Amino acid sequence: MVPLGKDPFTFACHPGVSCWLTCCRNVDMLLYPYDIILLKTHLNIRSDAFLERYVNVARGPNPSFPSLMMKMNEFNACTFLAKEGCTVYESRPSACRMYPLERAVDRTATKGRADEFYFLTNHDYCKGHAEDKKWTVKEWLRDQKLMIHNSHADRWAEMDTMFATNPWAGEGAAGPRQKLAFLVCYNIDGFRDYVRDKNILAEFKMPATRIRAIEQDDLSLLSFGYDWLQLVLTGAPTLKRRKR
Ligand code: SF4
Ligand code: SF4
Repeated sequence: MVPLGKDPFTFACHPGVSCWLTCCRNVDMLLYPYDIILLKTHLNIRSDAFLERYVNVARGPNPSFPSLMMKMNEFNACTFLAKEGCTVYESRPSACRMYPLERAVDRTATKGRADEFYFLTNHDYCKGHAEDKKWTVKEWLRDQKLMIHNSHADRWAEMDTMFATNPWAGEGAAGPRQKLAFLVCYNIDGFRDYVRDKNILAEFKMPATRIRAIEQDDLSLLSFGYDWLQLVLTGAPTLKRRKR
């Protein structure tokens, strides 16, 4: 496939297409940490309840860390699909927003930002490609509010790459370290309980504004959790410990 670059593509998805909502059925959808926080916040439930109700833990592309897949309902459709469409539209996962594009990131650049490329995908059943509406990649990203998803995806990719190095100190899959990593990445409310019960924040030197943000906001807690995992699993100096 050739990256789109600045070339425009044509696509439109609306209730008038004959394939309307076909893509919300029979779909293998991976969920990422940011998707889970968005969806559980939208549903106003805890992340552990979200995992229990809506997610299957699966063996995905990373052999050293489990992936999460959206559960399908008894009709093999996404649980959030209703007759009128997606019931969580404003908080839908990044995979639902990105189609018909696919994103690839080249992280080998030594200076500055990694390069990103976008490709046009086309499922046979999808009639959206025959519509006249023209887009550039930039316009599509803006329309689907994908910038923030992409920045979270990039941080998650860093973690996933670390997990692929099997940093579990010989404990194997589902050992205590991997359970902690699962908690941080996929169960943010469980991690909040853990941080509070173990008084983890008191161990580190951080500006008061960051501590307040971590205490109040899931995304700040997730970012702290990633730093904490990098420190605990690889010794990377991502956080400064207080002197005892
Ligand atoms: S989350 Fe919404 S858009 Fe995505 S597959 Fe489910 S119903 Fe469709
Ligand atoms: S198959 Fe394509 S055009 Fe049809 S509903 Fe899904 S994304 Fe839209």
